[in-house]
Amino acid sequence: MTHSSTCGICCKDNILFLYTSCDRQNTKNKEKTFSYYRCLDCDVVFVSPKISLDEYATYYDTSYVSHQTGGASQKQKSNKTSSLRERVRSHISRSKKRVWLCMHRIDFFQERVASLSWFKKIYVRIFSLSKFFKAQPFLFSVKNMSVCDIGCGVGNFLTKMRDKNWSVEGVEPSSFAVDVCETKNIKVQKMFFDRERVVRHRKVDLVTLNQVLEHLSDSHMALDNVSDTLKQGGVLYINTPNHDSFVAKLFKTYWYNLDAPRHMFIFSPKSLQKILEGKGFDVHRVYTSSSTSGFTGSLEYFLRDGLGLRISSDRIRKNKILNKLCVPVVFVLDLFKKGDNVHIIAQKNN
Ligand SMILES: [Zn+2]
Repeated sequence: MTHSSTCGICCKDNILFLYTSCDRQNTKNKEKTFSYYRCLDCDVVFVSPKISLDEYATYYDTSYVSHQTGGASQKQKSNKTSSLRERVRSHISRSKKRVWLCMHRIDFFQERVASLSWFKKIYVRIFSLSKFFKAQPFLFSVKNMSVCDIGCGVGNFLTKMRDKNWSVEGVEPSSFAVDVCETKNIKVQKMFFDRERVVRHRKVDLVTLNQVLEHLSDSHMALDNVSDTLKQGGVLYINTPNHDSFVAKLFKTYWYNLDAPRHMFIFSPKSLQKILEGKGFDVHRVYTSSSTSGFTGSLEYFLRDGLGLRISSDRIRKNKILNKLCVPVVFVLDLFKKGDNVHIIAQKNN
């Protein structure tokens, strides 16, 4: 086991060993273990050792290219495009069922939004809709603006935004995903956003990192690149796992959203706000969201890997009764900002 002596964000050595974990998604990779630490200064959890470039093919295959359909940790089946389409359809269908619960709130926001500035329109839309549609902010009605989606996967979010008359572009390291984007006529820069500085002449109104920041090996470079990508006063939206969640603390190494070793840095509302303010952003909104499968998935890992029970994949995670039982639990957790994912909406101010 390789031990890290300093924090990967603030470089201080005030760190606490938490636990070891392994790739629980792909049982072929379970032999190698990874250590997770928490920095007591900046409150970030980080993995050691990090995945090297040589290991990317091992831990990221073509099934791991989209964050648009319910989380990067979900696997696609062998027929990638049709499977993806099915998952998007399934996701939207589930979201629609939730709509009647929140229609009055959407109506409320529709009325309010009409009189707001463009910036407030963006962040009110993200907040009001993502909360109800599992943080998929693809239903904005603000038009004729520009967005860059970092880690855009196969471009589902950008396609939605283009349909809303936004100018869209993406950044994505996966060749497979970039090829799919090209078939959709979406402009994508193929690069590791955390490994080289971007040079941009045309800046955008909105940058999104939806379940991406935790995968990047250099958060500082990534956020500096975000800053260089945004116009003055532009909006940044981040959605990333929350190590301060109740489920993370309950299940520890078996936490479903830990997703070792792909998640290299895991933030909390506090640590994310701190690092963004350090980069010259004004933080306007911080909240959490949860899925019931975060709880049931963690329970499955605990029963399978912790207690050694023989459980077929997704048997617990996708159990309908268990998931329904978890609905009120995750609702309460989000009220107290203890959900599995933290969302932050910030404005570039430097
Ligand atoms: Zn630190």
